[in-house]
Amino acid sequence: MSQVFEFPGAEQAAGAPRTLAEMAYTRLRRHIIEGWYPPGTKLRVEHLKDDYGVGAGTLREALTRLVSDALVIAEGQRGFRVTPVSLQDLADLTRLRIHIEVDALRQSVRNGDAQWEQRVRAAFERLSAYEQPISLELLPAWEDCNRVFHEQLISAAASPWTYHMLHILSQHGERYRRLCVGLENSARDVHREHQEIFEAALRRADARAALALEAHISTTLTQLQQVPPERSPLR
Ligand SMILES: [Zn+2]
Repeated sequence: MSQVFEFPGAEQAAGAPRTLAEMAYTRLRRHIIEGWYPPGTKLRVEHLKDDYGVGAGTLREALTRLVSDALVIAEGQRGFRVTPVSLQDLADLTRLRIHIEVDALRQSVRNGDAQWEQRVRAAFERLSAYEQPISLELLPAWEDCNRVFHEQLISAAASPWTYHMLHILSQHGERYRRLCVGLENSARDVHREHQEIFEAALRRADARAALALEAHISTTLTQLQQVPPERSPLR
């Protein structure tokens, strides 16, 4: 039986948002992750409500949900701001994601049955179609396939909390990946990285798969650490 995973923020994959508040939340979240509102930007309810075609109360509701996703910070009486980015923050995110995801992968590779293999194979094939190479217009579709591939890899071991924590961490990771797109040293063969994880996982080489996943997760941090401070997008 194939498993269906539901965790907060999965609305986009599951279909159209149902209410106005959910629609405003989903769109605003996407716009923050994609950098339309750069890190640190002040989010003014009176401007945003017109941009998103909703009332002030609905917009505040969306912003409050984004605060619990840690994509927005509430500044008391002064309103809301897009959560800033920093190398230290990315290092923290990366370390936590490695902790949770690599451990789940090891267990999943050891426990996975034939259905798990099938799910991983299907997710890898779908992802591969977007990696020949990854184009900027197809980036949202690639992000979606990338998320599903990572979820399926750990699906023979992960718990609802594992998915919940990884979902929050990967939303933030996506913001940093977007910042890496224009960097001179951003050339990386993401497909080869995924293939290495995929092949090791299906060979049941859990230690090899764990190393490949750790390297894959660390790459954005390593790339950003190598950029001279005056050219860093994290200033
Ligand atoms: Zn990936």
